[in-house]
Amino acid sequence: MKPVTSRQVILANRPLGVPQASDFSINEQVLGAPGPGELLLRTIYLSLDPYMRGRMNAVASYAPYVQTGEVMVGGTVSIVEASKSPSFSIGDFVLGYTGWQSHVLHDGTGLRKLDPRQAPISTALGVLGMPGLTAYAGLLDIGQPKKSDTVVVSAATGAVGSVVGQIARISGCRVVGIAGAKEKCGYAVEELGYHACVSHHSTDLKNQLAEVCPDGVDVYFENVGGIVFDAVFDYLNVGARMTVCGMISHYNETARSPKPDRLPQIMRAILTRRLKIQGIIVFDYAHREPDFLADVSKWIQKGELRYREDIVDGLDNAVSAFQGLFTGNNFGKLLIRVSDDPTRE
Ligand code: NDP
Repeated sequence: MKPVTSRQVILANRPLGVPQASDFSINEQVLGAPGPGELLLRTIYLSLDPYMRGRMNAVASYAPYVQTGEVMVGGTVSIVEASKSPSFSIGDFVLGYTGWQSHVLHDGTGLRKLDPRQAPISTALGVLGMPGLTAYAGLLDIGQPKKSDTVVVSAATGAVGSVVGQIARISGCRVVGIAGAKEKCGYAVEELGYHACVSHHSTDLKNQLAEVCPDGVDVYFENVGGIVFDAVFDYLNVGARMTVCGMISHYNETARSPKPDRLPQIMRAILTRRLKIQGIIVFDYAHREPDFLADVSKWIQKGELRYREDIVDGLDNAVSAFQGLFTGNNFGKLLIRVSDDPTRE
């Protein structure tokens, strides 16, 4: 076997604020043939997700951060190009966590084989993967929507939000989205079946929300924080549930906002309106994966749940595509096509 050169995106510096191209470097590493039990994987799709911003900071959290000089972490779909493992054959497609690189030698631990006849392989990183499971468990297990509830979803057309909104609609709820661009709001209503969608770019977000949530809000699925949280919070009904999934508007902050501290008012509302607020970390919901895969696959097949992918070609574009997550540049699940997908040719 000829040696293969892996192209790798390395975290060079810890970003301050929005990550810049200068915070990363490109490395080329020549890989030898797989040893006993090993595989050579070629990355087809790399998932770009907001959580990666947290991994760039040297701050202890629910998962270890990336050391400078290391390859950036991330979920991937790859093809096996060489195998010395009895469990994998050349041509197998696998879901893994091999990071921002074109090739890797792997011992097979934690890889899951994908069947391209069941679903497009890219969906294992989106609607049928981590973001989809987050949406499913975060809405159904934490949000506990009841028929006719009003459910509000922020980042409503994104990888997580689009699935939350559609499951809420399928569950018989009135679903209101909050998104950025007008085009995204239109898509939320026309394609995803939201009852209404308002833009957080509007200076009148709060009044617009009041109009589309005349009976208040029973479940809020929080992906954004900041002004979006502020706008929704006051409309939460007695006994409302809030799933805290993400706070993307804060991920690049370098200092605390000088805005007035609303904490006493928020605590009082939690008390008097008996609100239930719970965070989600998707890793805690592995036990929900079988139900999630069965339900979401069924809804996709029946045409009740749609998904959209935003595929950017080339590992060299990963940093600029990642930056776009924080400006709403992505429209759908953001993926990098690192190399050709033979199932789509
Ligand atoms: P998306 O596909 O939704 O992409 C991110 C979107 O967030 C952007 O397109 C943009 O949408 C919106 N956004 C970005 N910055 C801002 C801002 N300052 N104000 C308002 N909206 C903003 O990403 P994901 O679906 O992958 O992730 C959504 C959230 O879920 C993130 O907060 C993420 O961290 C979280 N998450 C949490 C998990 C968990 O286990 N807790 C697991 C997976 C995701 P728009 O153009 O509409 O503004």
